[in-house]
Amino acid sequence: MRKVMDCREYPSESHCTLTIAGEEEEVLRAATSHAVAVHGHEDTPELRASMRGLLTDEVPQNA
Ligand SMILES: [Zn+2]
Repeated sequence: MRKVMDCREYPSESHCTLTIAGEEEEVLRAATSHAVAVHGHEDTPELRASMRGLLTDEVPQNA
């Protein structure tokens, strides 16, 4: 089961619509880079913890 991080669920001013899907650690790594580069967040344990809480299970498209 892949994990999904939908940026629309993340409170921000930029109205970002990015969705990142993959293995949990892949999503966290990509989402952290994205949050720092695009949203100006600091790469902190708190940021990673809050993003981990945003991960949801991917819904299979062909179910
Ligand atoms: Zn974003």
